Amino acid sequence: MALSVQRPLGTADVTPSEIHKWHTVEHVAQDIAETFGFKEIRFPTFESTDLFMRSVGETTDVVQKEMYSVIAKESKFTLRPEGTAGTIRAVMQNGMLNDALPQKVFYITSCFRHEKPQAGRLREFHQFGAEMLGSASPAADAEMISMANSFLKALGLKNIELNINSIGCPSCRAQYHKALKAYFASKTSELCGTCLGRLEKNPMRILDCKSPVCSEIAKDAPLISDYLCEECHDHFSQLRSMLDDMNISYKVNPKIVRGLDYYTKTVFEFITTDIGAQGTVCAGGRYDGLVEQLGGASTPALGFAAGIERLIMTMEKQNCMFMELRKCDLYIVPMGSSALGKAVGLAGLLRDEGYMVEYDLMNRSLKAQMKYANKTGASFVLVLGDNELEAQKAKLKNMQSGEENEISLDDSFVEQFNTQFMACYFERIDTDSILEESLTK
Ligand code: ATP
Ligand code: MG
Repeated sequence: MALSVQRPLGTADVTPSEIHKWHTVEHVAQDIAETFGFKEIRFPTFESTDLFMRSVGETTDVVQKEMYSVIAKESKFTLRPEGTAGTIRAVMQNGMLNDALPQKVFYITSCFRHEKPQAGRLREFHQFGAEMLGSASPAADAEMISMANSFLKALGLKNIELNINSIGCPSCRAQYHKALKAYFASKTSELCGTCLGRLEKNPMRILDCKSPVCSEIAKDAPLISDYLCEECHDHFSQLRSMLDDMNISYKVNPKIVRGLDYYTKTVFEFITTDIGAQGTVCAGGRYDGLVEQLGGASTPALGFAAGIERLIMTMEKQNCMFMELRKCDLYIVPMGSSALGKAVGLAGLLRDEGYMVEYDLMNRSLKAQMKYANKTGASFVLVLGDNELEAQKAKLKNMQSGEENEISLDDSFVEQFNTQFMACYFERIDTDSILEESLTK
């Protein structure tokens, strides 16, 4: 049967069989962020279009080509294409900059960009992002990079290269823009249409162009490192020595300029070669001018965002471990309507204790129910028929060992279940440790 309405191009469903991968990344993200003292922030899915025009920047691909905007009752709104703008707006609007600085927040959220869908590039994707406001010190840059690095490590990822660069401040960048314009001016016949437009307003964007001709020309373009002012130069060399002290390896890559306008000084990307062309799994940098640009007092700030889809793709490719989905602790097989009534009662008691309990809702035969219980991976099965109800006793079957033990269906049921469940749990730990021991031998 053909479904008459399909999901939009560039979006994805996450079915229950895949959800543990998302839970793993989200859980690790929250855990790492909290160990670095970051607190979660939530903000709307859509904002005034103006927010992104002012922050992400009018000459960026995101604003020029990728935003989903609507005019609703004469106001213009846009689905967030990234998380930084909304976070900073929320931090400012809620007066958080009047509290003790630095402010450190993180988010796990969806983003929307009208892109050409391909592996690792969706129209709705998800980011784990973190932002820090208030510190101008290179120690803050090192801290953010170290947090991203710990996060990727905690996911079990390997072979991810950290690339760092400094793109300077507005004062040194003015000189650099001049040099870039002079360089590209002699190549105007070869540049793509978009880059011709960028030449006047934002020549640094040309370095980010994905067209083969433009990127070939960009190879010999002047480097920002030759134009950094003393302050930006010092900031970058202090960051490098801090990363060295932290034993975080990196490559200085003068071609990293980042796609959004608000960056200043440090920019960085964590790149893998394991998932094809879209290999940047985490990217970020400093944006000292953004708060002021949005109408606040001058406040240095920085952050990063990691693409969750790309992280999961890389984890799959590298055979990283994922959290296991919770399995059913007890499946009750009731035979007949009075047994079903008893099953409902017992399930309620155990669920109150936190156990995952299921029972038949399909009126299936004993054999079919056992098959279903096996399929769900239930740890225990309890068959309830007329005999069991009458005797107030039943057999609790351990599905792993096949062992059956009697259990009373009276007031002591929960206590007896606890005992049998714990015994099986400890037995499992025991076999695990024996296995581990034999593996290390
Ligand atoms: P790219 O160079 O891939 O276009 P970007 O510079 O546009 O990335 P950022 O705005 O810095 O990306 O977003 C941070 C991270 O979010 C990226 O490094 C990537 O992991 C992820 N990301 C960005 N766009 C997409 C997308 N369309 N689909 C999936 N993940 C994405
Ligand atoms: Mg992009």
